[in-house]
Amino acid sequence: MGKYIFGVDLGGTTVKMGLFDPEGNVSEKWEIPTRKENNGEKILPDIADAIKAKMNEKQIADSEVIGVGIGVPGPVDGKGVIYKAPNLGWGEFSIKETFSKLLGGMNVEAGNDANVAALGEMWRGGGKGFNSLVMVTLGTGVGGGIILGGQILTGSTGAAGEIGHIHIVDGEHEKCGCGKTGCLEQYASATGVVRLAKRRLEKDDEPSVLRNEEISAKTVFDAVKEGDKVAIEIAEQFGDYLGKGLAGVASAINPEAFVIGGGVSKAGEILLDYIVKNYKKYVFHGSENVKFTLAELGNDAGIYGAAKLVLG
Ligand SMILES: [Zn+2]
Repeated sequence: MGKYIFGVDLGGTTVKMGLFDPEGNVSEKWEIPTRKENNGEKILPDIADAIKAKMNEKQIADSEVIGVGIGVPGPVDGKGVIYKAPNLGWGEFSIKETFSKLLGGMNVEAGNDANVAALGEMWRGGGKGFNSLVMVTLGTGVGGGIILGGQILTGSTGAAGEIGHIHIVDGEHEKCGCGKTGCLEQYASATGVVRLAKRRLEKDDEPSVLRNEEISAKTVFDAVKEGDKVAIEIAEQFGDYLGKGLAGVASAINPEAFVIGGGVSKAGEILLDYIVKNYKKYVFHGSENVKFTLAELGNDAGIYGAAKLVLG
């Protein structure tokens, strides 16, 4: 009977790994670099070697391993097929089959990293106790992961949950990373908050502490907490855009909760206040009381979710 699960979070520069028991307790955490040369051909063999080395070190037999879960930065469908991950140099192939072969036939499950992080937060983090939730990661970009009835919603080509690219603003002149304009990510990510702040400060000469410091999502929300009027306007604008985007998502799928994570979420409860207030303005009444919580697992959400992927 198996008693160990490996959870793997494959990122662009490092691979995070964790050794879990079926209850979700992690006993070991470690990292290896992501070697992307030659179209990323070394990445999966490196991870397989690291897992085998850990099994050796801890004297774990193959039969004691329930499986290995992996989250990857690209669209993955429900069968463990990745469609394309340009930042790793990968084209379309079955991660589930390829990785399992490298691990001597072990059970492997694969998912998109944002979706897998959502699963992790539901299992052991800010989404505990919910069965249907949306995780929103406000970091460099805006990531999304949707869990419905305990299962990841992958969509037909693994592209479900791309909340950051919901169109929010007409007439935007700057382009989003995806090539379109007016995406939620352009206003609600860490760089998005800075964009909103700079535009507000350029509008007039109203005094603000933000005029004397380097602008970041952190300095903006710190200023909000101090009662800075201009910063509060920026937070309102941020909350309006994000609230509108999430209201659209909720109106479509009616989740139990939104779990908000990523660097911007370090602002804490005050961030939720601005999101929820605006969300209620836009959402269909049937989804008005959806809960909002803060993510709790930070950078570990991916390894937790990957392990949970194995348990189903
Ligand atoms: Zn976009």
